[in-house]
Amino acid sequence: MNEIGRVLLSTGSWCEVLLENGIIISCRVKGKMRIKGLDTTNPVAVGDRVRIELELNADTASIIDVLPRNNYIIRRSPHHRKQSHILAANLDIALLVVTIKSPRTSFGFTDRFLVNASMYHIPVLILLNKMDLLDENEKEMARLWEDIYKPLGYQVLKISALNRADIEKVRTAIKGNTILLAGHSGTGKSTLLNSISPELKLKTANLSGYSGKGMHTTTFARMIILENETFVIDTPGIKEFDILDIEPAEVGHYFPEIQAKMDQCKFANCLHENEQLCAVKKAVEEGSIAASRYDSYISILLTRKNDYHWK
Ligand code: GDP
Ligand code: ZN
Repeated sequence: MNEIGRVLLSTGSWCEVLLENGIIISCRVKGKMRIKGLDTTNPVAVGDRVRIELELNADTASIIDVLPRNNYIIRRSPHHRKQSHILAANLDIALLVVTIKSPRTSFGFTDRFLVNASMYHIPVLILLNKMDLLDENEKEMARLWEDIYKPLGYQVLKISALNRADIEKVRTAIKGNTILLAGHSGTGKSTLLNSISPELKLKTANLSGYSGKGMHTTTFARMIILENETFVIDTPGIKEFDILDIEPAEVGHYFPEIQAKMDQCKFANCLHENEQLCAVKKAVEEGSIAASRYDSYISILLTRKNDYHWK
């Protein structure tokens, strides 16, 4: 008998799979399943939709197929450049929790995250949390964040994870989605999840310390059921969710406002650093591209150039 399920936890040879009827079962990963065109160390990843075969008269089940992925986050193995590891698959949205203070989230960190998410085709909802802590000047700063990111097409919600009405707004925004939750430690991620789903009882200040029923390890990525059809992916490797191997000339494509201007630069190969008649630099001078965004662009560009130089 075959059934479709969603992988909640994957250790490589074993997976915990949520069936459509709500039951969670352990499954063996059958044989050598290889995904076409991908040399990955794990054929089945958390978030995958899989076809499983229930073995009658036996207490076991096997994964026999992985359904096509909408997207996935991949990490290259530090030892074998040609091999990679899929951290998570089928993400609908990334929630990036940022705070103006306690702790302060930088534009640089935020922009790197946005570039990554864009490479992986994951839409981002920026949650400006801890609004209750802000004085008038700091609220002005929060408005600046909105002014920078909303016109670029990112959703921005100003919230306090301590406020019931704000929590409901977030709950509505993520309902039915598989979420990647990101942000510096201390920005309120666990508080947020606990408020959305009180029965979770995540330890605040340590999301990855959470260990669900029957899960004895925290080394593997897992998907937490927040409520019916709403999932959060908690992946320890997310620190390595870093800019992929792109060429310097490609960096601008992941900044929508730079992408929109680059056709007007005099030189077709303009990298918008010090070139003459650069439409991007002109837009920065005129204020239609935020200086912080341009700084982030240059910083990513330089690291990519460096990588290319040493290859
Ligand atoms: P995490 O590391 O991102 O999971 O952050 P936590 O959820 O552990 O939150 C860190 C601290 O910030 C905790 O003491 C929370 O109570 C507090 N906190 C979280 N959200 C808010 C908020 O919106 N307002 C205030 N004042 N404190 C918050
Ligand atoms: Zn240019």
